[in-house]
Amino acid sequence: METNVNQYSNRDITITYEPRVCTNAGRCAKELSDVFRNSVIPWIDVDGAPLQKIVNQVKKCPSGALKCIINEKLA
Ligand code: SF4
Repeated sequence: METNVNQYSNRDITITYEPRVCTNAGRCAKELSDVFRNSVIPWIDVDGAPLQKIVNQVKKCPSGALKCIINEKLA
């Protein structure tokens, strides 16, 4: 079955989103709406917040639909 993972990148980070896995609780949009936007396409703006804030929010995704890869290793 096709997983249909969406990918959003800038120089520092790549965020992947798997809609099939998302439980739609909306936690990401509620807690970091500058990045995870409800009514704008593309819905993820990787430049909407500082890198560490995005990483922290991705880690809170309860379903695992959001994942991120840091392009440069952070301390
Ligand atoms: S936090 Fe994760 S599960 Fe919740 S809406 Fe965002 S992507 Fe979906």
